[in-house]
Amino acid sequence: MERISRQSPGLSRRRNYRRLVAPAYKGISGGYDVGYGVYDIFDLGEFDQKGSVRTKYGTKDEYLNAIKTAQKAGVQVYADVVFNHKLGADLPEKAQAIPMDPGDRHRPIGEMQDVEVYTHFTFPGRAGQYSTMEWHWWHFDSVDYNIYDTDSNAIYLFKDKQFDQGVDLEKGSFDYLMGCDLDMQHPEVQGELKYWGEWFADMTNIDGVRFDAVKHVEAGFFPQWLNHVREHTGKPMFAVGEYWSDHIEALHHFIKVTGGNVALFDAPLHYNFTEAGKSGNNFDMRRIFEGTLVKQQPALAVTLVENHDSQPLQSLESVVEGWFKPLAYALILLRQEGYPCIFYADYYGAHYKDRGKDGQEYEIWMDSHQWIIDKFLEARRDFGFGEQHDYFDHANCIGWTRLGDEEHPGSMVVVLSNGDAGFKSMETGQPNRKFVDITEHIEEPIVTDDEGWAEFPCQAGSVSVWVSQ
Ligand code: CA
Repeated sequence: MERISRQSPGLSRRRNYRRLVAPAYKGISGGYDVGYGVYDIFDLGEFDQKGSVRTKYGTKDEYLNAIKTAQKAGVQVYADVVFNHKLGADLPEKAQAIPMDPGDRHRPIGEMQDVEVYTHFTFPGRAGQYSTMEWHWWHFDSVDYNIYDTDSNAIYLFKDKQFDQGVDLEKGSFDYLMGCDLDMQHPEVQGELKYWGEWFADMTNIDGVRFDAVKHVEAGFFPQWLNHVREHTGKPMFAVGEYWSDHIEALHHFIKVTGGNVALFDAPLHYNFTEAGKSGNNFDMRRIFEGTLVKQQPALAVTLVENHDSQPLQSLESVVEGWFKPLAYALILLRQEGYPCIFYADYYGAHYKDRGKDGQEYEIWMDSHQWIIDKFLEARRDFGFGEQHDYFDHANCIGWTRLGDEEHPGSMVVVLSNGDAGFKSMETGQPNRKFVDITEHIEEPIVTDDEGWAEFPCQAGSVSVWVSQ
């Protein structure tokens, strides 16, 4: 659940905000499932399955109304879509499979054997409405649960199946993540997902999608599916994939295989923010965009500071320190490159309890940065235009300018420091002009000289955004 806005060149500027929502279909835990434990993709909170009619987020009608209301308010909606796995099969069935080493997916750790597995999905509560397809073991490549050997931690690869090739290479092949792993080569699986895409787009009128866990799914399927749904709806259908890896080459490879159809979250940038936050003034701010997608492939980079997996106690915990968050948000919201994504909990704050890796329960408070994020959004809306000039010339204090264009003649100057209070001499294109710091960190205005230059200050470990008056 992130709110995102974009102003990247080549992308529509008709509307400023898009909202990403979690998977809205029925998961294995029914009304409590966050949505990633995918059970039935045709049940948007409509059928009595897995203990409830509603999903965690409400009934189908409430879901459709929420989308409509957001769109009426000028917000486009992107839906979270999980193609990797299914969970919560209705019936077990017998098959043959070979147990593989979970740490090295190419290494068998036993003979081909009879197994009994939960892979038969009949969806009794839906009773064939919208789709009559039942899923069987042969629609999947692998599972990790065998009724005959419940102590085993093996991944069972079904007879005559292979792990998908176009996936991340961690663990030999990172095709398998959880549950029943879809066989993306199977024509009935491909056909059903394409049919579902038409059905889902017609039913919900969504504007785009977020593909979950794309590094575990045959990459070549995404452009096929997208182009199918684009053709059906006649809509451009923006798509962003969650390829959570700080290996920039893996991201480039995915972009190549998918023909540039799918943008990616800039995980390497997030990791730079995490490192910078932890390192204080030891981090060289001139390197903040080093090895990131937004630097190397800006048109396909969805930039973010934090998300629901990196936040405290979550599966990929790598928290960006609170003091650094305003700097990080300035770096994604006030620059030309990238399609920025704001994390709900950074904006509204969050308070929750969860278990850590040590099994202990912890209570977490995440601060709301709403006030300063709103300031940045206003600056982006009014001043995020025209030429951008970087002054990345000091390890602790960097800055940049946006010089405006014909329609937006104002200038914006951003200066930030991860060390002591500092200043930077920058050229604004606005001679003898007064600038004020909209973050209110520094009250005294600055006036540029006859050539449009001035020394723009910021406080220690802080960011100031100076805009022309
Ligand atoms: Ca997979």
